[in-house]
Amino acid sequence: MALSEFELIKRYFYQSARAFGVNMGVGDDCALLSAPENKLLAVSMDTLVGGIHFPRNADPELIAERALRVNLSDLAAMAAEPLWFTLGLTLPSVDERWLEGFAKGLFTVADEFNIALVGGDTTRGPLAITIQVHGAVEAEHALMRSNARVGDVVYVTGNLGDAAAALAVIRQELTVGKSAFSYFMSHYYRPLPRIKDAKLLRDISTCGIDVSDGLLADLGHICEESGVGAKIDIERVPVSTALNKVATAEQIADWALAGGDDYQLCFTVPQARLAKIEQLISSGKLHATAIGEIVKGSEVVCYIEGEVFEPKRRGYSHFDGAN
Ligand code: ADP
Ligand code: MG
Repeated sequence: MALSEFELIKRYFYQSARAFGVNMGVGDDCALLSAPENKLLAVSMDTLVGGIHFPRNADPELIAERALRVNLSDLAAMAAEPLWFTLGLTLPSVDERWLEGFAKGLFTVADEFNIALVGGDTTRGPLAITIQVHGAVEAEHALMRSNARVGDVVYVTGNLGDAAAALAVIRQELTVGKSAFSYFMSHYYRPLPRIKDAKLLRDISTCGIDVSDGLLADLGHICEESGVGAKIDIERVPVSTALNKVATAEQIADWALAGGDDYQLCFTVPQARLAKIEQLISSGKLHATAIGEIVKGSEVVCYIEGEVFEPKRRGYSHFDGAN
């Protein structure tokens, strides 16, 4: 290695962490942190493996952005405010240009979401990135998967299906024009963690999940944890104009329902709070759409014009492939 492990860490990952509660960040045996008073710590970790979660030769700046953004999405899905993160980096070799790009992407996102890198570990091996994020949330505002109740309305933020379309473009299964290309790529590599949206949901929702594996799969987790079923009106599932222009209705339905990686929030709202959420939506503060309802049962059932619709697949699982 041209650079020693310690020099590498110092050059690329030392950052004066002025974020909340950092008594000691990178550079000692442990980070020393103080948690905000009267809040719970929300902790989550995601690993991205080169060749599985992203192409090994992808732009390191985009790899870093995506890695931190998908972790931040888990904080959003708990309505937690970002505080700190740690980084486990496994590298096949020390490539300074790669590290420079990686650090640039990482700190761009860290600054945007006000989250501080406070430690990590660096080893040699097949390219992999593990990030652990820490956030804070008041107990009563956390968005738990187990809090859906029969009669609640199911909402989703933003649009669904764009990231699956991007993946089809990357795999050369879909060809699109130049501006659509950059639109889809940015949705795949630079998903927006819905931290701000989640904050707006305090006093409105206590149940939510981020859509990482596909709407049906992720809403399915809510149903399972809450002991309920859900019905979804396919025609109300929001998709972008860009997606509507480039794909068939069948493809769009599949990508929006079963495609992963969109990182929108899916959340439920009790009938008594519908006026509040509709007010947020109509005032333009929140981009969210009502797509269905929580019902008795245990399944997510899809409808088109009142008729049951059986989607061709329901989501993505790492261990059994497409199912
Ligand atoms: P130790 O031998 O105690 O594990 P290391 O040499 O692994 O210490 O790390 C030294 C310091 O650098 C620690 O504060 C650690 O948190 C930090 N560090 C190591 N790798 C990274 C990384 N990839 N990103 C951020 N901080 C890191
Ligand atoms: Mg170490």
